[in-house]
Amino acid sequence: MNVWGYWKCPYCGETVRADHKDCPKCGTSIPNDVRFFMDTSKPIEYVDKEQENNEANWLCSYCRTQNPAQAEVCESCGAKKSDALGSYQPDPEPITPKPKPERRQKQRPKKDYIHRQNSSALKLLFGLILFAALGIFALNWYQKPVDREGEVISFGWQQEIGVEEYNTYRENGWNVPSGGTVVSSNREVRSYKQVLDHYETKTKRVAKQVKDGYDVKYKDMGNGQYKEVKTPRYKTVYENKTYKEPVYRKEPVYDTKYYYDIDKWKETDVLRTSADDHEPKWAETDLPEKVDSPKYGDKRQGSRRGKYWVIIKDDKGNEQKLERSLDEWKDLKEGDKVKYQTHRNSDDPL
Ligand SMILES: [Zn+2]
Ligand SMILES: [Zn+2]
Repeated sequence: MNVWGYWKCPYCGETVRADHKDCPKCGTSIPNDVRFFMDTSKPIEYVDKEQENNEANWLCSYCRTQNPAQAEVCESCGAKKSDALGSYQPDPEPITPKPKPERRQKQRPKKDYIHRQNSSALKLLFGLILFAALGIFALNWYQKPVDREGEVISFGWQQEIGVEEYNTYRENGWNVPSGGTVVSSNREVRSYKQVLDHYETKTKRVAKQVKDGYDVKYKDMGNGQYKEVKTPRYKTVYENKTYKEPVYRKEPVYDTKYYYDIDKWKETDVLRTSADDHEPKWAETDLPEKVDSPKYGDKRQGSRRGKYWVIIKDDKGNEQKLERSLDEWKDLKEGDKVKYQTHRNSDDPL
């Protein structure tokens, strides 16, 4: 929509609405070099729809009257538009009305206050992130193992030969292996699953952009009229939104457990040897390694395993026990330097 602009009477200083060609106070005519202006301190006066004009005036070359773009001849002397001196040059920048002073005073401190609040909250957030990052870094540094070196002063080892016995054993499981004879079965809890129990209504704060009036600007049409240009203004409002969150419960899953008897070899004993020296020996045994067509109560040699360690003197003069693989351990000699790791706050090898 267009609104009326004004011109200032050069004789008496009266502010005259642009559709008046003569000053109502002193009768002075609108000057040829008039500059129209908006006066937003006055009530806005809208131009009737049929009078709306968006083209700049032209200036008669004979009588210097300003004529609307639609007029083909001068409204005052009848001269042709094609002989025009030129057209009125509108102000390129739209006019923004100034807010009323009392409103401004009320708004300013509030705005500043919000701004300060935002920036201090931002600083706090930034500080917290920095603090957390430093904390993670420090924890990482603290937990990272450190390399140490010690000197071998003695050796030790322990070796075991499993002793297996062939017999009927009572076992249980969710399946019966081949050769098993079921004695009984039972429904038992095998696992748990999450099942949807109910929904909980929760609320969260969500930000929303809502229209908060308009910013109004007035664009000079070059004929005393100004085009009102409205751009919507938005503000952020927060509202509580409810949503449903599923709540699960643990429910047991039942299955059939079988109790069965099975004939098999099973480790029932160990033959252990150990010493604080560098010469590991397996226990001496008469048990066979293999038994063809075994009878209940028959025994045989089972798996073999060993532990091998060195006693070292650490950089503080304390004795520490380090376990090593058999190959590594065999190659070590008294006085050798060995590398190992500890925690930063401890002398115990990892
Ligand atoms: Zn006047
Ligand atoms: Zn004229």
